[in-house]
Amino acid sequence: MATTDSASSSIGEKTKGVIDTFSRFVVPNYRRFPVCLVRGEGSRIWDAEGNEYLDLFPGWGCNLLGHCPGPVVKAVQEQVARLIHVPNSWYIEPQGEWARLLSERSFGGQAFFCNSGTEANEAAIKLVRLRTNGERYKIITFQGGFHGRTMGSISATAQPKYQEGLGPLVAGFQYAPHGDLAAVEKLVDDKTGGILVEPVLGEGGVVPPPAGFLQGLRRIADDRDLLLIFDEVQCGCGRTGEWFAHQHFGVVPDVMTLAKSLCAGIAGGAMITTFEHAKHLRPGMHAATFGGNPIAAAAGIAAIRMIEDEGLLEHVARAADLFRQRLGGLRERCDAVRDVRVMGMMIGVELAFEGAAVVQACLDRKLLVNCTQGNVIRLLPAMTIAADEIEEGCDRLADVILDVAGRR
Ligand SMILES: *Cc1c(COP(=O)(O)O)cnc(C)c1O
Repeated sequence: MATTDSASSSIGEKTKGVIDTFSRFVVPNYRRFPVCLVRGEGSRIWDAEGNEYLDLFPGWGCNLLGHCPGPVVKAVQEQVARLIHVPNSWYIEPQGEWARLLSERSFGGQAFFCNSGTEANEAAIKLVRLRTNGERYKIITFQGGFHGRTMGSISATAQPKYQEGLGPLVAGFQYAPHGDLAAVEKLVDDKTGGILVEPVLGEGGVVPPPAGFLQGLRRIADDRDLLLIFDEVQCGCGRTGEWFAHQHFGVVPDVMTLAKSLCAGIAGGAMITTFEHAKHLRPGMHAATFGGNPIAAAAGIAAIRMIEDEGLLEHVARAADLFRQRLGGLRERCDAVRDVRVMGMMIGVELAFEGAAVVQACLDRKLLVNCTQGNVIRLLPAMTIAADEIEEGCDRLADVILDVAGRR
């Protein structure tokens, strides 16, 4: 089998063929690495040329339990042979059971199921409007936040680079600086119906909330009768070592949106809200054809059970300590590392320079990482990652960062 020393210097024949097909038949809306991935297991993944990679960013945050986690694979295989899809005009067992498990692990209430994060946020936006029959339609969101790519969610996303050329945007979104409670108070008026925030900014650079911020938002929402919506599409479902990131801060939202890792790699999303508010999404006002389908539900249930059966929330706390220790050590040795932020398996290494060269050099060394906000190396490792994989990954990343920083 042909192997490549460097993904950037030579591309194997199989990979070339796949890339040719893409360039003719697939819309070019993604920047892709010239690598074709074919198989994964845990935190390892292999390409079409037989190269093995250590994956510290499995599935862009979707593969929370690593590649092809056994219990999820089994549950999906069993479900797909029994019932693949039926519309939401019928009852199915797994959707109800899935909703119960999520309710019991969050703040009670009910779930609306969909297929992605942006759809979950659209449901939350509709809920805000429906609660007051469209009278209080304004929603306050935060600079550096990310909520998805459909027109509602992109309008909620206060990052101009994603909105360029897409206007007119959906009306009613107002942006406040992240962490600025006074700015929020100022923006609230009699048309405001909600506040939407990521408890931990993901795409925005792995940024935890400043002290008192979520508590302050809760207070404002209570005082002004607003829905407090937490977008936990990236930070939820166990990634931070609690079931949901807001549980670290003792603040309970009225609405929470989930997707990415919700089904451990199968497409699935959900909006969770209290009984009191759920009733506003009355029959006919919202739907998702594939929402809560048997396969997504089976995967979602299996993911929750696997996290509990294997004690993975506790494992995340230990794994996070190891990352903190290793990457904190790097920060001490290297001035170009400005900050290391670890929220469980959500990790940002802020550099004093653009991170693209680091991502490329890591790829050359068979390590998969991501860069966001230009200079933050982002890791979203699997909850199942082993100590030796963390050490190997941090060593390789440290070598690359020291090397790239030294060449500047
Ligand atoms: C990825 C992401 C979304 C969008 O999810 P999609 O499934 O791509 O629609 C929304 N919010 C946050 C916080 C995300 O990280």
